[in-house]
Amino acid sequence: MCPRERCCPAGCSRRARTHTMLTYEQARKKVIEQVGKRKGPRASSGVSVWDALELVLVQEVKTDREYPPFDRSTRDGYAVRSKEISPGAARKCVGEIKAGDTVREALAAGSCVQIMTGAAVPAGADAVVMIEHTQREGDLVRFARAAQRGQNIVPRGSEACAGQTILTPGTRLGFAELALAAQVGAVELQCAKRPRVAILSTGDEVVLIDQQPGKFQIRNSNSVSLAAQVRIAGGEPVVLGNAADRVEDLGEKIERGLKEDALVLTGGVSMGKYDLVESVLKAMGAEFFFDAVAIRPGKPAVFAIYQGKPVFGLPGNPVSTMVTFELFVAPAMDLLSSSEARPLPLVEARLAEALNERPGLTHFLPAHIEWRDAVPEVKALKWQGSGDIAALARANCFLVVPAEKEKIATGEAVSVLLRKDIV
Ligand code: AMP
Ligand code: MG
Repeated sequence: MCPRERCCPAGCSRRARTHTMLTYEQARKKVIEQVGKRKGPRASSGVSVWDALELVLVQEVKTDREYPPFDRSTRDGYAVRSKEISPGAARKCVGEIKAGDTVREALAAGSCVQIMTGAAVPAGADAVVMIEHTQREGDLVRFARAAQRGQNIVPRGSEACAGQTILTPGTRLGFAELALAAQVGAVELQCAKRPRVAILSTGDEVVLIDQQPGKFQIRNSNSVSLAAQVRIAGGEPVVLGNAADRVEDLGEKIERGLKEDALVLTGGVSMGKYDLVESVLKAMGAEFFFDAVAIRPGKPAVFAIYQGKPVFGLPGNPVSTMVTFELFVAPAMDLLSSSEARPLPLVEARLAEALNERPGLTHFLPAHIEWRDAVPEVKALKWQGSGDIAALARANCFLVVPAEKEKIATGEAVSVLLRKDIV
């Protein structure tokens, strides 16, 4: 049977939608639910802390000792017994303690000791007075104000106890997490392997990017944007090239793509006669969870599970491909990386120029956001629709126009989806 007939009983060549159209939030939830359900333990390997940026930890990291390991001065100044220091009091300075110095002697009553930031506060002292609030007269130090017990000292063990878990499995390693691991001497970290994501473009008109396209052909820019988006989302792209709009070629290349952790296709999911992706997947036995989402651009987006793996059919128009990746593929990749799905980077901004959009679908318009006196302001950019890559290259976000909204006035609060690669 022609695979197309399976989705269109009349046997016509048009793709018939078999699911009710979901909102983008519902569609995202479906992806998270289905991929999350199948999330198993992921293969991992030891990675140097220098190379582990943005990887997901699969081990616990514990402290090797207390932090700080001694009462640490947070200022350059004088360590004192706080009870002895009132405005105008003077104390004899009996020495100095630099960061890293071994401190054995307690501070004797009636004296003070000069101390540097990061140095250990001697026993007996319970406050550090900033140098700015003192005056040195030979051996004597005169204090301008009273000292408070504990002032400018971080007590031993107050940041973490010895053997305390400070990083847990599932943590995505950013610069602070890596510094924390380094601080406790965890120089090699067990991290989940990056999910491998197969990228397959489709369309008879599509040629390789290093080929000269014929007048009516186009270069395969979608595979490039998708590979970049996969990398940004923490995955490893496996670019499979392009499938012709033919059942056999699509079938073969889809099979190849399913060797990876996930498969992302572009093109061939709309209503045209040669949009065969969904019907080929159906004929293979893929289980579908949505085949249309109430958004523009990106409405014909498709999500299925086949052989336990997520398969996404994203519309071929470049901006649609980019938007639908961010909405639906990125959360799946988080889950495949052994982490939680990160929320969409949505922020609220003031609309700089009134808008008039057709209601019915949630719109994601290429837009530019900037901060004026710390207040975010956003403006939709002129564009020629979902094929206009140049517009998106000028944009740093998408302005989200809710489905029920037709007009939005200047100054109204709107929702903005940030392009997290550049904002
Ligand atoms: P489709 O979703 O296959 O109907 O394609 C929609 C539009 O996107 C058409 O104008 C295609 O030529 C274009 N398109 C499809 N695939 C790609 C691709 N890989 N790179 C750039 N544009 C594409
Ligand atoms: Mg096509």
